[in-house]
Amino acid sequence: MHARFPIFAKLAKTTRALTAVSLALAVSVTASGSASAQANLPVVRDAEIEALVRDYARPILKVSGLSKSGIDIILINDTRFNAFVAGRRMFINTGALLQSETPNEIIGVIAHEAGHIAGGHQERLREQLARAQTMAVVAGLLGIGAVVAGAAANSGELARAGGGLAVGGGEMARRGLLGYQRSEETTADRSAITYLEATGQSAKGMLKTFQRFQNALALSGSRVDPYQVSHPMPRERIANLEQLAKNSPNYDRADSSTLQQRHDMMRAKIAVYTQGQSAAARLFRKNPQGLPAQYGDAMATYMYGNPRSALGKADALIKAQPNNPYFHELRGDILMKANRPADAVGAYTTAVRLDPVKSGILPISLGQALIAVGDPASLKKAVAEIKKGLQRDRENSSGYRYLAQAYGQLGEIPEAELATAEGHFYRGAYKDAKIFAARAQQRFKRGAPGWVRAQDIINYKMPSKKK
Ligand SMILES: [Zn+2]
Repeated sequence: MHARFPIFAKLAKTTRALTAVSLALAVSVTASGSASAQANLPVVRDAEIEALVRDYARPILKVSGLSKSGIDIILINDTRFNAFVAGRRMFINTGALLQSETPNEIIGVIAHEAGHIAGGHQERLREQLARAQTMAVVAGLLGIGAVVAGAAANSGELARAGGGLAVGGGEMARRGLLGYQRSEETTADRSAITYLEATGQSAKGMLKTFQRFQNALALSGSRVDPYQVSHPMPRERIANLEQLAKNSPNYDRADSSTLQQRHDMMRAKIAVYTQGQSAAARLFRKNPQGLPAQYGDAMATYMYGNPRSALGKADALIKAQPNNPYFHELRGDILMKANRPADAVGAYTTAVRLDPVKSGILPISLGQALIAVGDPASLKKAVAEIKKGLQRDRENSSGYRYLAQAYGQLGEIPEAELATAEGHFYRGAYKDAKIFAARAQQRFKRGAPGWVRAQDIINYKMPSKKK
């Protein structure tokens, strides 16, 4: 339960045998929340990785004029290299993060994607997706053949989404899902160069990534990553890009050593979580004494080894960087696994306090530890911490599950049922959400805040069925 990669987004499954594009469309207009069969969209929720990737994106979004566009970044647990924008969400695969040796490589990809958004490429599609369940299209893109219905909360938006997508469907299908034209690639490349220039960064990483794809295409039988399918990379494009990149005075400018270290620690984490115990050691075999290798070792020991040994390794990391919130988070995870929840509370409390970006994930972990401690005072604190986390991260459906648990153990049953209803609601399981909201409502006083919120869920209008 303390896995750092909780897979939380639930998808309503369909059995229709359609292409990814039309499947996503078909399902999003019929996303009536049938909770009967659900599949998972493997969304990664991790405070450290989210904070880092947002740090990569922030300056780029600022200079591209997109800071106010509400671009959210979602991490997908997929080993293939991919990054794309759907609606107002930028999706990045963990595979892309793991394969990129420097921050600059990912920053370059983000700059290129920002170039597509700023250039208004596929604007109509984006506009429709912004109002719709973009996760649905993403699910189709990933070949999951399913739709999430839990991403958006505004009922009006959802109700309109169906119609908008139905109108745009033909065009989307014709152009290929999120595939770009060559002229758009050239524009996005030029924009990306401008953004990197304006932020004093090199385009070397972007060039390296694209060159790699060009080489990969030449190898017959090699695995084709989705990124090179949606972003055509003819030789002349890469040649032009190389020229532009090398003209910049920033071309040889490297990422700061601090940023590189954070990047390597992220890669160590992804390696251990997705490729097993010795993956980080393999990744950093040239520098086994470095902090990223040590971090990978500590995480591998936490996952596969004994907690006491893992704890010693976490303590060594904390000694090296006392103010790193994620080392304290790891320490909390280890203590939870060692069945020492009271000590885990201390570790997570430190992590929450040190977190500069105030992720919602860390207070929710703290809340879980407080639930495990289990006395009434701790349970009350758990409620407060989890609520704090949910205020920062409103769609964190697992947070509602823990909130319901804390209320349940406190004997506050209507609140527990309302929290359960909210969790189902944000996962898109509207029928279940309404059932629990109705049960909560029977116990709340008419007109009380909980009663009103339950009524909102009961009144929520699901997207109308078409076909
Ligand atoms: Zn592109």
